Amino acid sequence: MQEFELTVLGSNSAKPAYGRYPTSQVLRYGNQLFLIDCGEGTQLRFADYKIKRNNIRYIFISHHHGDHLYGLPGVITSMSLYSRKSPLHIFGPKGIKKFIDVLFEIGEVHLNFDLQVTEISCESMELLIEDENLKVETFPVYHRIPTYGFRFSEKQQTPNIRKESIGKFQLSIDEIKMAKQGSPIYRDDVELPLSEIMYPQDKPRSYAYCADSKTDDRLIPYVEGVDLLYFETTYLDELRDQAIERGHATAAQAAQFAKKANVGRLLTGHYSSRYKDVSPIKDEALRHFDNVVLGYDGVILNI
Ligand SMILES: [Zn+2]
Repeated sequence: MQEFELTVLGSNSAKPAYGRYPTSQVLRYGNQLFLIDCGEGTQLRFADYKIKRNNIRYIFISHHHGDHLYGLPGVITSMSLYSRKSPLHIFGPKGIKKFIDVLFEIGEVHLNFDLQVTEISCESMELLIEDENLKVETFPVYHRIPTYGFRFSEKQQTPNIRKESIGKFQLSIDEIKMAKQGSPIYRDDVELPLSEIMYPQDKPRSYAYCADSKTDDRLIPYVEGVDLLYFETTYLDELRDQAIERGHATAAQAAQFAKKANVGRLLTGHYSSRYKDVSPIKDEALRHFDNVVLGYDGVILNI
């Protein structure tokens, strides 16, 4: 089974506070790294949490508020300074190309690797990339400006054969192929027990990232049943009106949403700088949903 883990690089909202940096996360699948949002200071966090920047092949930007974007110029240019040669692909809302072009033009920046930029503009779930193991989809969320969530879904892996079963049942190559496809195999009209031929299949794992956003039932089909859901919890529920007005969520709202969407675990984050201690955010969420993980800079979670 491939390693599938998330590292939170920054867990705060617009103003960095109490050692918490603005939003950024790194998702690892095997040896592939995906950077999700890129708040100011992201590249400093690479050093803090031993992230190999040149192993990042894709960057996903949710929206153009600075606490999700202003780390991008530094990350891109330092990749070049660290002799990156492999291509980098950035996905972000409409305008991301202009943002990067202006920076490069006024700074006369020349990269020594290929940079591909794709602008997202979708009204429902859309596929961004996929390979034989994983697919990444995007979907609109509900914030003040166009903002997108991302869902990373592992594909069902081909089950592995138990090597000892080949000799035990005298399996032919065709029968091994059939077993991998789940087809029954017979000896003297008796079906061989597939569980003795194949290892049990792991359930495909999934992660969904929703920031920044209000909670809204229209998001449920996009994230339903994921193993881990990151949903911003900027405020405690006593500031619910402010949250709604600013296109954010409270801990209680995020937890109620996680329950409705039947997810495995809820990860909190994007905390307002008014909170020195963020443990009440987790406490509030736990009153509505059992499986809450408190996000903080440096936390690593297995998906
Ligand atoms: Zn925002």
